[in-house]
Amino acid sequence: MVLFGPAGNSDSFYAEGHKSTVETFAWITAMGLDAYEYSFGRGVRLGEAMAKKIGAEAAAHHVTLSVHAPYYVNLATEDAQKAENNLRYFVQSATAAKWMGARRIVFHAGTQGTLPREEALARTRAALMDVIAALDEAGVGDIELCPETMGRAKQIGDVDEVVELCRPDERLVPAVDFGHLHARGRGALNEEADFAAVLDKLENGLGGYRARRFHVHFSRIEYTAAGEKMHRTYDEADYGPDFEPLARLIVKRNLEPIVICESRGTMAEDAVILKRIYTEALALES
Ligand SMILES: [Zn+2]
Repeated sequence: MVLFGPAGNSDSFYAEGHKSTVETFAWITAMGLDAYEYSFGRGVRLGEAMAKKIGAEAAAHHVTLSVHAPYYVNLATEDAQKAENNLRYFVQSATAAKWMGARRIVFHAGTQGTLPREEALARTRAALMDVIAALDEAGVGDIELCPETMGRAKQIGDVDEVVELCRPDERLVPAVDFGHLHARGRGALNEEADFAAVLDKLENGLGGYRARRFHVHFSRIEYTAAGEKMHRTYDEADYGPDFEPLARLIVKRNLEPIVICESRGTMAEDAVILKRIYTEALALES
């Protein structure tokens, strides 16, 4: 099954008077959604009791949870203290994820900085093995780690790099942010063939479960010459990418990604739109 859900809570969720993510699962499942991504972007500050409460509500509503690791992770860092901190952020994220019953940690691998690309990538690859070792040692290693495709050229994370990062361990599952790829390629994703090329790389580079049940971030995106500028809503059709071509490919290829919508402010409403587009593609095919 393809799952759909928001990253965080829509503006309308709060406008309706809701205050806590504990309440979000009844709200999104009433909309027909079945996935949710919880952000530790600004740090893992969720206590055990609240994490378990969120997890219990998600489970009661059959919502599949993922978490997003802190944005300041940079696995390419040359700074020993920062490398140490990275490990701590991952152990904290995995620990909190387990309290919640989340099975996936999505993360931004790192940034090139002043390093040559190859060296930055090699450092990131090596650091990721340290992360896995640290999680295993902390007893929280049975979780999927999802390096994300990123929206700016200096960030580690074009599709080839994400596939390469995922290769060493079955627990490494690609998170394909199609908005980011569109921005990184300055409007690269238009035709079905553009999306197919991305999916082909997952299939040829990894195959199996990881090319079928990969993670997806989807939103329209505004970009400049430098890449990603900001996420837009699905209504703002002047900005790409469209979901239809990807939905058709998901159907044709029998894929089962977890699709997380990252629209600005309307992530839940737009996740419903993505699901409808997919459902329509499914009906056309059968
Ligand atoms: Zn992200």
